[in-house]
Amino acid sequence: MQRVSKKKDLEKEIANLKKSGRIIGFVPTMGALHRGHLSLIKECKRKCDVSVVSIYVNPTQFNDKSDFRNYPRDTDTDITKLESVGGVDIVYTPISEELYPDESLLDFDLGYFDTVMEGANRRGHFKGVITVVDKLFSIVKPDFAFFGEKDYQQLAIIKHMSKALHKEIKIIPCPTLREDSGLAMSSRNELLSKEERAEAANIYQSLKLAVDNVASFNSIAEIKKDIISKIDSFKHLETEYFEIADKDSLKTTMSMDALTQSRAFIAVRCGKVRLIDNIPFK
Ligand code: AMP
Repeated sequence: MQRVSKKKDLEKEIANLKKSGRIIGFVPTMGALHRGHLSLIKECKRKCDVSVVSIYVNPTQFNDKSDFRNYPRDTDTDITKLESVGGVDIVYTPISEELYPDESLLDFDLGYFDTVMEGANRRGHFKGVITVVDKLFSIVKPDFAFFGEKDYQQLAIIKHMSKALHKEIKIIPCPTLREDSGLAMSSRNELLSKEERAEAANIYQSLKLAVDNVASFNSIAEIKKDIISKIDSFKHLETEYFEIADKDSLKTTMSMDALTQSRAFIAVRCGKVRLIDNIPFK
């Protein structure tokens, strides 16, 4: 595994690989790697000749400065985890000053996508995400880039941005990896107490309940009310939002007939930790 930090070095390496006609796959991460990340990396290795993983905690996507400061950073452990899946070709650990010579954010209108769910609840978050992804795409110039459905709204936004600014890159969605309890894997799960973690499994269980029992509800409003009250009945859980929205446009689903084209999305506070999840209707 080659570890590269200087932008110039990476660009040179990529130019050489491109010259020899190799297909380049890219998985951007913020480190603190877990099996969810590794599943994206495995898919990247399967599909591409060359796999590039970036590890960079992007300051512009944190609306809470202490969250940014406290984000786990341990590149050596991350590298050991990458080795456990047979390694990747290039680990890119960008230098902040090179990525952000100034503080300007990408001038790209996310429109409706940025006004709902995570966009509404974490102001400026997605602007930071597309800024760093645009910068990384311009440096790595991958043929394929892999993103998790765990962050479905992020995936939709990156598809939207790439369609306009990086048409040549194919965005590959990858399914959410879960713990045995059903809880979606996340670096934030490590911050939960044992009791909170056990309760957090109810987030997925409730989503599944909504999806599996559609026939027992009369309306979308009824589903929402039922799920929110179920989740909020747990000691450590508090729903921030529960939405049912179209899988492509993310527009709120209004009728039961449209459920087959929809996903259920949720954000829940579990103690001090904010968790998100989503699943499709069948
Ligand atoms: P992050 O390091 O949190 O920015 O995540 C890097 C990538 O891993 C993103 O595309 C995430 O959607 C993806 N990811 C995070 N958790 C999971 C998971 N449990 N299953 C699948 N992909 C995930």
